[in-house]
Amino acid sequence: MSLAREKERLIHELKALGAIRSKPVEEAFRKVPRELFLPEHLRMYAYLDTPLPIGSGQTISAPHMVCLMNEELELKIGYKVLEVGAGSGYHACTIAEIVAPSDTERNLWGHVWTIEIIEDLANYARRNVEKAGYGDRVTVIHGDGSKGLAEYAPYDRILVTAAAPDIPQPLIDQLKPGGILLIPIGRPYSTQVLVKVEKKMDGRIERRSLLDVIFVPLRGDYGW
Ligand code: SAM
Repeated sequence: MSLAREKERLIHELKALGAIRSKPVEEAFRKVPRELFLPEHLRMYAYLDTPLPIGSGQTISAPHMVCLMNEELELKIGYKVLEVGAGSGYHACTIAEIVAPSDTERNLWGHVWTIEIIEDLANYARRNVEKAGYGDRVTVIHGDGSKGLAEYAPYDRILVTAAAPDIPQPLIDQLKPGGILLIPIGRPYSTQVLVKVEKKMDGRIERRSLLDVIFVPLRGDYGW
């Protein structure tokens, strides 16, 4: 089967599973070619619903997790988003396709900053983002994202794609009132919980556990 047909089959499955619930998330998944973010020998597996190795002991998240997180982030055109854990750069581009869609005027575009602690992977992500045509909407930074990225704060949305011991205070501080933060919390290499944190307009923090997940550990000052 061609990759294009495999992608459509997977979209059908992800909708049945409830990981895709809205048109923008579906269209973003359709538009961004996951195969471009994989090492060449793994490209044929791009539309299997599984994480895949991307080097340096790290993984690109499974499609259902990317779509589910994008739904829970409640993304809108124009939003400023921070991703902690760039990995391959793929997830950041799917978000960019929602906050800064290709078919919308540039002056309405939001932006995605994605930060990666492993320098080789930051370079890999930057190359992938350029190759896929998202270099004008996604900025890849090498550094410790457990401290956030104060330079461009505050953000409408923050997502962490590695499991943390707890919610890092700098991420809460760098979230706008009305903002949403998604973060897996729990021990390395065991089941963790994906937590949705909402910062209310008066600054109050509400946290809700969404589901059990398995992510690689968050490193750095507020990591393991
Ligand atoms: N979002 C990625 C993608 O689309 O390919 C997948 C991310 S992978 C599951 C988690 C990434 O988080 C790894 O590349 C890891 O090196 C990175 N990471 C771990 N701790 C970090 C930290 N403190 N700051 C930035 N990146 C970190």
